[in-house]
Amino acid sequence: MIDLHTHSLFSDGVLLPSELVRRASVNGYNVIAITDHVDSSNIDFVLPRLIKVAADLNKHWSKNIKVIPGVEITHVPVKMILELVSYSRSQGRAIVVVHGESPVEPVEEGTNKAAIEAGCDILAHPGWIDDDIALISKERGVALEITARAGHRKANKHVYEIGQKNGATLVFNSDAHLPSDLLNDLQIDTVLKESLNINKEQIEEIKNNSLNISKRFI
Ligand SMILES: [Zn+2]
Ligand SMILES: [Zn+2]
Repeated sequence: MIDLHTHSLFSDGVLLPSELVRRASVNGYNVIAITDHVDSSNIDFVLPRLIKVAADLNKHWSKNIKVIPGVEITHVPVKMILELVSYSRSQGRAIVVVHGESPVEPVEEGTNKAAIEAGCDILAHPGWIDDDIALISKERGVALEITARAGHRKANKHVYEIGQKNGATLVFNSDAHLPSDLLNDLQIDTVLKESLNINKEQIEEIKNNSLNISKRFI
C-alpha cells in the first residue's frame, strides 16, 4: 500500500508527522508521502522539517514503512508555480504535488497546465480536465490523481476516463488529513471499484504507478 498525498499538522492535517506515519504503518501502508500545503510564506519552513523527520523515521522504521517528504503547492498564483516547484527540487529528494483545479474549490484557472509544465510529480484532484491536459501530463510524465477525498472525488471517473484515453499515468491517494482518512487495502479496492467501475487488473495498474513514482524517492 502506497499513499503519495497526505497532510500533517504542518498544514491542515491533525497529526504530527510521526503519528501520521505510525498510524499509516499499522493500517498496512508500506510507503507514505507527507505533502503539506505550501505557498511562498511557508515552503522554506515546512519542507526542511518534513525532510528531517522523514530521515529520522526512515532510520528507525524503514523495515515497516518508508516515508517520503514533500509538499502540495496550493492555491498559489499560476505564474508562481514554476518557481515553487523549482525551489522544492532544490531542497533534496521530495515529492512535489500541486493542488489541481478541483471541482469544489476556486483554484485559479491555468493551475493544472502550469503544474504539468513545471514538471511536478502529481497533479492532485485535477477536476474537469480536457484531452489537452491529459496529453501534456503524459508527455511530461506527470501523474493525474484519483482521490478518496470527499468533494474532490466528484471528478474521479472523468479524470480516469480522459487520463486513460490519452495514456496519462493515474495514481490513487487518500489526501488524508485525519487518522480516519487513512485507508486499508480493502477500502482502497472498494473505493476504486465503486467510483471508477474498474476491474482488478486496472486497480493493480494504478497501484503499480504509485510504486514506480515512489521509487524516485526511496
Ligand atoms: Zn488540506
Ligand atoms: Zn491535499
